[in-house]
Amino acid sequence: MTRAGRTARTGADHAGRTSPAGKAPAAGSATPGSAAPGQAPAKKKAPAKKAPAKRAPAKKAAAGRTTTAPEGAAAKKAPARQKPSAGKAPAAARTPAAGRPPTGESHLAMVRRARRINRELADVYPYAHPELDFRNPFELLVATVLSAQTTDLRVNQTTPALFAKYPTPEDMAAAPPEELEELIRPTGFFRAKAKSLLGLSAGLRDNFGGRVPDRLEDLVTLPGVGRKTANVVLGNAYGVPGITVDTHFGRLVRRWRLTEREEPEKVEAEICAIFPESEWTMLSHRTIFHGRRICHSRKPACGACPIDHLCPSYGEGETDPEKARKLLKYEKGGYPGQRLAPPPDYPGRPAAPLNTAE
Ligand code: SF4
Repeated sequence: MTRAGRTARTGADHAGRTSPAGKAPAAGSATPGSAAPGQAPAKKKAPAKKAPAKRAPAKKAAAGRTTTAPEGAAAKKAPARQKPSAGKAPAAARTPAAGRPPTGESHLAMVRRARRINRELADVYPYAHPELDFRNPFELLVATVLSAQTTDLRVNQTTPALFAKYPTPEDMAAAPPEELEELIRPTGFFRAKAKSLLGLSAGLRDNFGGRVPDRLEDLVTLPGVGRKTANVVLGNAYGVPGITVDTHFGRLVRRWRLTEREEPEKVEAEICAIFPESEWTMLSHRTIFHGRRICHSRKPACGACPIDHLCPSYGEGETDPEKARKLLKYEKGGYPGQRLAPPPDYPGRPAAPLNTAE
């Protein structure tokens, strides 16, 4: 194995990495299929060689991409810089050698690579969107609070009955706790979540005239509402740019070596510094989409990943294209999405209501 190609891609091991610890696996953690990690008996360096031969399709997909997003200058230069690892990487360059920031990558090169990831993800997921069903800021706020420790799908299956009964903060603030608990029971942790909903509804009613505020500093005063929830509401109900650092987002930006931070607020600050504000909200959606569909927590589908040539962690998951394809989720795998009422441009099928779910 030559060393040549490794320079293009990255350093070596991925030992010692930890997933976004303890963070509430918010929305959509519909965890990827389990994975039998071990491939047969390990020959010394066999894994490194296995991957390259099977990777042609992914390369092709990525190569054909043109730059579209607004970050002009970087967009033009990035392809040239990426050439060694992107276009026709020699076999050795496809070595699953994940784990460290690309050796020798300057900050500028990292920023360009990051922005290119964002542009290419925009091509892969032009329909990226928040995966919680909502019709107004209050519904989005409630749905986001409910999404802690469960999937967006489960929240979407739960909220229709909830909002039919308690459509406004005033209604919800006056709900008998046991009734509220019963309605949200499918989302788990229903007692704590009911307490948060009662508290935040009362807060909205008493302090904000029954309206969901559009400032982060106001939102975080509400019970059960932290920065992540506030950013989701601001970005998607009010169009205020924000980065949503959930478990998927944190995991992916670390795999991409855009940050090494574990704390959501520090991750947010570092990623905000890399991208223009106008991209923050959509970058969050695209990254979370990618995390849910392809770059799973336990077994990323590297062999079917359209941005593999930009990822220092290629090889952390399944590199065989056939096997990787079987790991794909939601519309990428031909399955329904998480929303019962997805936007019109969503190419997948809507999710089924509770009890009729596939
Ligand atoms: S699936 Fe693999 S190659 Fe793609 S972003 Fe995730 S770790 Fe990187």
